[in-house]
Amino acid sequence: MPYDFTPIPKWGVQLTSRQRMLIAGPCSAETEEQLLATARALPKEQIAFLRAGVWKPRTRPGTFEGAGEAAFDWLVHAKAETGLPFAVEVANAKHVEVALAHGVDAIWIGARTTVTPFAVQEIADAIHGVDIPVFVKNPVNPDLELWIGAIERIAQAGVKRVAAILRGCSGIASGKYRNAPAWNLAIELKRRLPSLPCLCDPSHIAGDASFVQEIAQQALNLDFQGLMIETHIDPSAALSDSKQQLTPEQLRMLMQKLVLRDQTSENLEGQLKLDELRLAIDQLDTTLLTTLAHRMRISREIGDLKRDNSITVLQTSRWEKVLAKAIEHGKQLGLGEDFVTDIFNRIHLESIAQQQ
Ligand code: PEP
Ligand code: MN
Repeated sequence: MPYDFTPIPKWGVQLTSRQRMLIAGPCSAETEEQLLATARALPKEQIAFLRAGVWKPRTRPGTFEGAGEAAFDWLVHAKAETGLPFAVEVANAKHVEVALAHGVDAIWIGARTTVTPFAVQEIADAIHGVDIPVFVKNPVNPDLELWIGAIERIAQAGVKRVAAILRGCSGIASGKYRNAPAWNLAIELKRRLPSLPCLCDPSHIAGDASFVQEIAQQALNLDFQGLMIETHIDPSAALSDSKQQLTPEQLRMLMQKLVLRDQTSENLEGQLKLDELRLAIDQLDTTLLTTLAHRMRISREIGDLKRDNSITVLQTSRWEKVLAKAIEHGKQLGLGEDFVTDIFNRIHLESIAQQQ
């Protein structure tokens, strides 16, 4: 199905299932030439906002911290020439004031700022009464409450167009990526705030240009409503996040390869098969619940026996044996160790609670 990255941001439920929002541009605005060359080469018709970091929150000192206020002249110039509205990252009230004074079209709050309620509140107060979109990236740590709290602070300032951006989490196992994608965090966010548009930033998850495509596709498979992709005219010369940026040409190729999915299919046969498999899953879920309830009834009986015979509820060695057996059995059935361990630990906790 052909993609339809809409150039005009539409929000919440108004985003039709086939439209996705694309934000692209360099990690940082470095020079006027770099910014203009990048903006000119982008597929403008499909881009909602040109992104560029003006103040860069760097984890370590001594690296490029952004061109600062001077970069706004370049952004305004790029907009005049290409028609692309622009978005920058803000981390405090002063940034908001300067960005607004230069006619910024949208702002985003970075992962290192979302973790700090004081900073987010300061931004919310500074944006109060201004009708531009605000994108809130997830905090660097996988803390959903902090993310939701930041979104609430911005929404409470009267901002109508708020959206979330999943950019992954650091400090936890991330496999081959720079940041763990933390899909669960966004899935839970969508469950809690169903009408909030949620985009994905595959660049900061990836940390490497070669992984951006697969992460972007996964995000679309999970029904994310847009992508923010770092794009630089010459990534190898970039002053920040050099490894993960795409060239405008690579961005075009990525968009051509992306497959957009829908909530349902017009292919009747495929849809029928899907319905059939879902029915099977629903039935298995009922069996799982019935089995769990049965298991807990027996746990309560065991609890009574232990009480009557003064035996401790918790017996670590017995539990270790049960868990080891389950992991082994799970492996034979093709179930991963982490999955079986998580489920059985949860069952064990409930079983202890029931025995008390
Ligand atoms: C960025 O977008 O360049 C950036 C610094 O992102 P994050 O806040 O996700 O690290
Ligand atoms: Mn970056």
